[in-house]
Amino acid sequence: MAVDDDLSVLEAVVQDLRRHYGATYRVMRAASGQAALDILAQLKTRQEPVALLLSDQRMPGLSGVDFLGRARELYPDARRVLLTAYADTEAAIRAINTARIHYYLNKPWDPPEEKLYPVLTDLLEDWKAGYQPPFEGLRVIGHRWSLQDHKVRTFLSRNHVPYRWLDIAANEDALKLLTERQLDPDRLPVVIFSDGSALVDPEPEVLALRVGLSTQATQEFYDLVVVGGGPAGLAAAVYGASEGLRTLVIEPEAPGGQAGSTSRIENYLGFPSGVSGADLGRRAHIQATRLGAEFLTQRATGMRIDGQYRFVQLADGREVSSHVVLLAPGVQYRKLEIPGAGRLTGRGIYYGAALVEAVACKDEEVFVVGGANSAGQAALHFAKFASKVTMLVRGPGLSATMSKYLIDEIERTSNIVLEPRTQVLEAFGEERLEALRLSGEAGESRIAASSLFVFIGAAPGTAWLPASILRDENGFLLAGPDLRVDGKLPGVWREPREPFLLESSVPGVFVAGDVRHGSVKRVASAVGEGSIAVQFAHQYLAGF
Ligand SMILES: Cc1cc2nc3c(=O)[nH]c(=O)nc-3n(C[C@H](O)[C@H](O)[C@H](O)COP(=O)(O)OP(=O)(O)OC[C@H]3O[C@@H](n4cnc5c(N)ncnc54)[C@H](O)[C@@H]3O)c2cc1C
Repeated sequence: MAVDDDLSVLEAVVQDLRRHYGATYRVMRAASGQAALDILAQLKTRQEPVALLLSDQRMPGLSGVDFLGRARELYPDARRVLLTAYADTEAAIRAINTARIHYYLNKPWDPPEEKLYPVLTDLLEDWKAGYQPPFEGLRVIGHRWSLQDHKVRTFLSRNHVPYRWLDIAANEDALKLLTERQLDPDRLPVVIFSDGSALVDPEPEVLALRVGLSTQATQEFYDLVVVGGGPAGLAAAVYGASEGLRTLVIEPEAPGGQAGSTSRIENYLGFPSGVSGADLGRRAHIQATRLGAEFLTQRATGMRIDGQYRFVQLADGREVSSHVVLLAPGVQYRKLEIPGAGRLTGRGIYYGAALVEAVACKDEEVFVVGGANSAGQAALHFAKFASKVTMLVRGPGLSATMSKYLIDEIERTSNIVLEPRTQVLEAFGEERLEALRLSGEAGESRIAASSLFVFIGAAPGTAWLPASILRDENGFLLAGPDLRVDGKLPGVWREPREPFLLESSVPGVFVAGDVRHGSVKRVASAVGEGSIAVQFAHQYLAGF
């Protein structure tokens, strides 16, 4: 929808939009912010989706920023773009924060092929990725509090496979669908496909195959095998493939890594209004694939070295070989070591699950454990859906552990409550989480709770690697200069040369991202290391 009080400008925008998007989208117009809000309210009543709002800033009555802010309440997912005169750029930048606009464009936008369409197409692609049309495609039937159900839903969402979720306890159609197919309601989750066939409690590899993801390598040998499809692995895939290396990425869950589960990354270069981790992962995946990288939905379970060849073993027993391996498996969430937590994980206690679970917590009270950025981002994300978010923080406050922009936003969000100097001691519940025992400033207490999201740090997943790949006492991988102890290289290193900057104790095996000892735990640094590692891979291969 285009909004402008200047009718000749409005006509010009609408013409340009129709010419380029007319075949796929309906282009609507309004001559004032209020008229546009009225149309949006009608569309909402008819349950029609809205993809993008393009509004002029200077209008009598509601300004563009005011309109976009109010429109956000009706259509939070619609992309919001402000059209401004050059002189209003500063106002537009402020609006990124207040009205959460996604982009601002300067007038005039001629030629649209250069200045309008690339931006809008990008935003529409983002919108499309999150839009679930009312379709009769894939359905998942399960229990909201089951760990398996949660895993299946996370896997599908993160791989951008649209599905409808039917909670067996809350949706009558769920039982009907199972009965029609003579499926046992005690064996859930069930995934029903559009052709009517079903999978009961499927393993990720089986599900991956059914929804068209690749689980088998097309070649036996690659120049570069990347373990982990997070920011580090994806960056390596983009550079490796674009520079002519036959590149394979092994990723058991979905491209995007930890960033994929993060609600919003606000500090990654080039995204002034932030980018969701899932979007960043999706874009990088498309980019790497377009450049020729291959992706496997598999987990690496072992590695062996044979002369110049490195073999990565996969969970299904197969192997892939290469000259160069890049290890970028990131870190896994640290678990809450309290009575009840193990049993109730996935049944009310979740780790880094913000995106998938947030909607299910609509109008409920949610608890978040942790005081670092990840906890802050999750709390802000939940605050959009839950009635109240309580942050349980061990320290006296957030200032020592969280970025200022997040603290400021938390303070501005009225339904987030901070409980400092508070620890969770025990979790209670039979089928699912029902209560928590806390120790806080006022002593011990037992409170009712149905959702607890834990963000208390992470540990590297490196136990599957051979002993020859050296690591520090916490399991993080050593590379480059960090391999030296008291100035000496370790005995396993037999090459006459120095290890390259990101090379592990085994030649040709490189390390990038969070898993590396001493790494900066940031998307940008992971991307940087993944890209640099490819340069060292070239130098290593040049020595053959
Ligand atoms: C909640 C949260 C919020 C964050 N917010 C920000 C932020 O705002 N800004 C910022 O810069 N950073 C942020 N970070 C940090 C950032 O996400 C990480 O630094 C970054 O994702 C590290 O990238 P990576 O590629 O090294 O590892 P990861 O992102 O952890 O990716 C590793 C990938 O490897 C896969 N993998 C693991 N084991 C195997 C195996 N055996 N075989 C194959 N694949 C495997 C995993 O499935 C995963 O996809 C946040 C992190 C969290 C958890």
